[in-house]
Amino acid sequence: MRSATRETRRVSHSGIMERSGQRNVNGACGLSNQREAQHGAQETVNESESTIAAQADVLGDGISSVELIQVMGSDEMIAAAARVSYAKDTSPMPVNPLSERGQSNAKLIRYMIDHEHGSPFEHTLITFRVTAPLFVVQEMLRHRIGVSFNQQSGRFTEFKPEFYTPKVFRQQATKNKQSSEGEVKYAGLTRNVYQMANLAAYESYQSLLRLGVCREQARGVLPHCTYTSLYITFNVRSLMHFLDLRLSPDAQWEIMQYAREFARHFEQFFPLTHRAWMEKRLAEDGG
Ligand SMILES: Cc1cc2nc3c(=O)[nH]c(=O)nc-3n(C[C@H](O)[C@H](O)[C@H](O)COP(=O)(O)OP(=O)(O)OC[C@H]3O[C@@H](n4cnc5c(N)ncnc54)[C@H](O)[C@@H]3O)c2cc1C
Repeated sequence: MRSATRETRRVSHSGIMERSGQRNVNGACGLSNQREAQHGAQETVNESESTIAAQADVLGDGISSVELIQVMGSDEMIAAAARVSYAKDTSPMPVNPLSERGQSNAKLIRYMIDHEHGSPFEHTLITFRVTAPLFVVQEMLRHRIGVSFNQQSGRFTEFKPEFYTPKVFRQQATKNKQSSEGEVKYAGLTRNVYQMANLAAYESYQSLLRLGVCREQARGVLPHCTYTSLYITFNVRSLMHFLDLRLSPDAQWEIMQYAREFARHFEQFFPLTHRAWMEKRLAEDGG
């Protein structure tokens, strides 16, 4: 795992976070600087103690990655959006979780999660830059509601020879036809067959490009495990839905690793919501 051991994140009072000196979707630090100018003082939080890596190699091959780009909103914002229903104080200012208001926010968020009162959770955003195999990205792209994507174009750019090779080749599950279990017997041979196929495909891709075939057609010979990059932005409601589906035991192991990393950031920035969501999941699982 490539880790950022020491880093500084800038957190505005609206809860918008950006790593200092780091590119974001709006260009080099532009958005944060604009906000700083508009809103005055910002709180600087040194997160050197954080256990969350700046860039996590979730599949453990030195190519895959999840990088947190920005966060907007907070538990307080979610609680404030809910309280507007009964015309109560709607200040989204950060509060001590142990204070009376903090406890009240926790209770309110728990109530909303339990009763599926989902819209207050939509007043938030969390953006990741993801490097993932095409087959994982294809699964991510199936999430239509409250999720935004921008993906590397295989028409604009040439794919690099970067392929996901599983550390463990699993067997086809016997009961669930869509799933996998255990490990194949001939791991070394399996790995060779798999990697030779990727190599041959990439050589064909390069040959087609040399023959003058356009990138948008030549990419047709590349395998599903070819790496690509994308930005993915959730609101907390859509993130919880994504995590419900992609952390469930019947999800594919590879997308589950990405979901786990998303969940770690979710927990860090929306701790009350994360706790309420986890408790509901555990209760539903009978745990
Ligand atoms: C384990 C697993 C196996 C899967 N296997 C397959 C498969 O074999 N083949 C396949 O094609 N897909 C498969 N999928 C993808 C799955 O069908 C969904 O497309 C994907 O999980 C996104 O879920 P979603 O539609 O709930 O999310 P979103 O698209 O984000 O939608 C969120 C919610 O909005 C509502 N909604 C969205 N669109 C509509 C609509 N048009 N009409 C009414 N309500 C809507 C629903 O309540 C939905 O749950 C699989 C997913 C998982 C987790």
